[in-house]
Amino acid sequence: MTDTYLELVNGGLTGTLAKKLGLPRPAPLRRYRAGEPLLVGPVLVLGKGADADAVAAQLAGPWDLDVHRHAHDARYAALVLVLTEVTHPDDLAAPVLEAAATLRSLARGARVVTLSRPATDEDAPAVAAARQGVDGLLRSLAKELRGGATGNGLVLADGVGVDAPSVLGGLRFLLSTRSAFVDGQLLAVDTDGGSLPDDWDRPLAGRVAVVTGAARGIGEAIAETLARDGATVVAVDVPAAGDHLAAVANRVRGTALQLDVTADDAGERILEHALQRHGRLDVVVHNAGITRDKLLANMTPEKWDPVLAVNVAAQLRINEALLTSGDFTDAPRIVSLASTSGIAGNRGQTNYAASKGGVIGMVRATAPLLEAFGGTANAVAPGFIETEMTARIPAVTRQVARRLNSLQQGGQPVDVAEAVAFLASPAAGGIRGRVLRVCGQNMVGQ
Ligand code: NAD
Repeated sequence: MTDTYLELVNGGLTGTLAKKLGLPRPAPLRRYRAGEPLLVGPVLVLGKGADADAVAAQLAGPWDLDVHRHAHDARYAALVLVLTEVTHPDDLAAPVLEAAATLRSLARGARVVTLSRPATDEDAPAVAAARQGVDGLLRSLAKELRGGATGNGLVLADGVGVDAPSVLGGLRFLLSTRSAFVDGQLLAVDTDGGSLPDDWDRPLAGRVAVVTGAARGIGEAIAETLARDGATVVAVDVPAAGDHLAAVANRVRGTALQLDVTADDAGERILEHALQRHGRLDVVVHNAGITRDKLLANMTPEKWDPVLAVNVAAQLRINEALLTSGDFTDAPRIVSLASTSGIAGNRGQTNYAASKGGVIGMVRATAPLLEAFGGTANAVAPGFIETEMTARIPAVTRQVARRLNSLQQGGQPVDVAEAVAFLASPAAGGIRGRVLRVCGQNMVGQ
């Protein structure tokens, strides 16, 4: 789907008119292309202590960025606020106000990333106040950014160092154009598990990934993105989508498996195909999903049952088959598609939200089962993404829905795919049972 409004307000004559009229002008987002530099312009690393020094050294050294430790008169491509060592709300003032002075001159599409620790019941009250304060700060700051800039945070469990693979992987993801539609999110890093890729442009080299619902939409973009990142892809979809499925599989140089994911033996067939054709299975992306919207007062088994069957029960059954097979044990990754509807709720979508909320519970409980193999299970929760699914929404509702986020536009399927690819990558091994929203900081829900 094209977003005509976004094109008009960024066009020459119509853009000038929109500016004069004071209309909201969502900025076109820059998206990732392999081989491009991580950031174009300097990065300001604020915060004091060993963690801030280590982050600055990583950015300046291995990542070869132009790092400043104090604000200069520069157009910053990124601000990194290292707040892992705050112990009192008073500690926030210095780095935050120094960052504030640079906000008006941020580059288009700039990135603001906080690194902090979770507030827990065991913390001293002042420590917990400072830590939790970062969450409120980040979510509000993200709402103030313009020009396609985003604000996100990594929340490092106590004991996880700033050099842990998932901290570095997460930081790189959030700084890069891969996270174009991720905004206002705080992603937890639970352990120092995972490993850094040899090549950040091909983190999935040598891995075999299954993507369900790959014939179109978000699934197609996931198949393409995982293949771009080096994975061999098995594209799965229902037989009725066979032609499209074959085209996707050919394009990504993978293989196609026609399969209804609700089949009793879906897990066994996926594993058999991956092992026979490619010799291994490392990543499963549960993307196949359907909607059958109806107000609960009008709900019928015909609308309820298939949504729960496809969106969550099939995932449970496939996971069970993989986990008991003994063939899914080399740092495996499960990434499931949830939805912001499953977090915030959505009128007319009790069935869908129950299934997507179910997915969130499922990954949380599945992650510990994979831990012994260095594996993880996580979910990605898209907000409004421009696909055939959302093209069916009535025009006026669709216009409103796509503006109700900090970036004032719908996301593209590739935006979801980038988040999936990150969580599927070796570097994400320390992120366990979490949900990453790709919603442009949707005003709905947290
Ligand atoms: P889509 O309808 O465009 O594509 C879904 C694909 O899944 C289709 O190719 C379909 O044939 C396949 N599929 C459906 N049932 C299947 C089954 N039983 N077995 C195998 N394949 C099956 O949907 P989309 O917009 O690309 O959404 C992809 C995922 O993202 C879904 O899980 C959806 O719930 C989720 N999601 C989408 C949005 C959005 O805005 N588009 C928002 C939140 C979540």
